Amino acid sequence: MNVHHAQLAASAVGPAQYPSDGLPEVALAGRSNVGKSSLINKLINRRNLARTSSQPGKTQTLNFYRIENRMYLTDLPGYGFAKVSKTTRAKWGKMIEEYLLKRDRLKLVLHVIDLRHPPTQDDILMYDWLTHYDVPIVIVATKADKVPRGKWQKHAKVIRETLMARDIHPLVLFSAETGMGKDELWKHILDRLPA
Ligand code: GDP
Repeated sequence: MNVHHAQLAASAVGPAQYPSDGLPEVALAGRSNVGKSSLINKLINRRNLARTSSQPGKTQTLNFYRIENRMYLTDLPGYGFAKVSKTTRAKWGKMIEEYLLKRDRLKLVLHVIDLRHPPTQDDILMYDWLTHYDVPIVIVATKADKVPRGKWQKHAKVIRETLMARDIHPLVLFSAETGMGKDELWKHILDRLPA
């Protein structure tokens, strides 16, 4: 999809602040610093609408980006950042869980994983949790530009095996740097949206 209009429509800490216009939503889940903001910016052709930050764990809100009055991309707070207190972590967990479980207009979750390394324990937990609740998932293996082309498939296989990924969950190789995987990812997203 060629995006012309995209804006940050809401930053929410709870359901009261979620958008209320009924558009379908696609959420991004991933470890802090995995590259979710960069992925959003690449998908919508903006250099810096979604904040890319060198301070992992800073985003504590659910950020709803409205795309073409057609849908929202919902950026969830990154998980797995060690330097936050247990209380804060529990609060984030609850916020994310509430959204993922109760949001009926959520159509798909993009589970963003770093292609360079095997998934972390937190990645596995998140994947198991999403799978357990039957949330539709596309696994996005990002930062592909940092892995030599000849090793892409091997790394992708490690990701699938470590997550024990189900065959019904596609894996898209992505790079926010080169734009690799962008069209394929849009295809998966549009497949999930009402016509
Ligand atoms: P977030 O915390 O998940 O939103 O991660 P960011 O989007 O802020 O990215 C974290 C860091 O990884 C930044 O320095 C980005 O420039 C870098 N990054 C993100 N995606 C890519 C990618 O596809 N390739 C490369 N080489 N760097 C990336």
